[in-house]
Amino acid sequence: MKVLIVYWHPEPQSFNGAMFRQACEALVDAGNEVKTSDLHEMNFNPISSRQNFKTVKDPNYLKLQLEEKYATEVNSFAEDINSEIEKIEWCDLMIWQFPLWWFGLPAVLKGWVDRVFAMGRVYGGGRIYETGVFQGKRALLSLTTGGGEDIYIKGGFNGDINGILRPIHRGMLQFVGFDVLAPEIVYAPVRMTNEQRVKILENYAARLKEISKESAINVGTY
Ligand code: FAD
Repeated sequence: MKVLIVYWHPEPQSFNGAMFRQACEALVDAGNEVKTSDLHEMNFNPISSRQNFKTVKDPNYLKLQLEEKYATEVNSFAEDINSEIEKIEWCDLMIWQFPLWWFGLPAVLKGWVDRVFAMGRVYGGGRIYETGVFQGKRALLSLTTGGGEDIYIKGGFNGDINGILRPIHRGMLQFVGFDVLAPEIVYAPVRMTNEQRVKILENYAARLKEISKESAINVGTY
């Protein structure tokens, strides 16, 4: 299996960093090919602008989706975007590793989606959801939280985590055709003992070694 891991955390020694490295190692050990996008290390530019394109159709008024369609036609995406799209086109499974920030993706990862999920090349022209460009590929969110599991349930303080993740599962991944696997969620790693965290890393590695056997989940409607 070909696996792309897209990862962002500002601190390489973080628990997210440990999960990222653990995933790379476990997947390679299990015989998979792995490519990575370590967005912090890459200093990935998350801001959509004219810099998304080598040439633009209308230099006087920036209409991103029209320019994305044009860039698809004339193959003029900026290299930092084109190389990311090629990695997605290459992979069978895409994993996003991140800390939950403000109930969503941290800004750099969100900006990666803004720039890389480009109209024409990645979606559009009737190719969305079941007819999406990336149908047949699977995606996995692997994230950490600050809050405990008890507050991420229906009726709990923060509400059902599945509802919080739905804009990512449905609005981003399924929108462009991915099947979504059950998310890997580590609640409040900062409040665990070191032994608990080590066990979580081991369990994650064991899951990834068998991940090719997993089926997609229903992300619900909420
Ligand atoms: P870290 O603090 O880096 O790691 C936790 C512990 O694991 C540390 O003690 C570290 O030393 C240890 N560790 C590292 N590597 C290993 C290893 N190999 N083995 C064992 N232990 C190891 N939380 C929410 O719940 N909801 C929100 O909406 C939310 N919004 C946020 C917004 C912002 C802007 C910020 C800054 C935080 C927010 N948080 C929120 C909290 C955030 O999600 C958590 O702080 C984060 O997910 C914890 O993961 P981490 O990788 O940063 O943990």
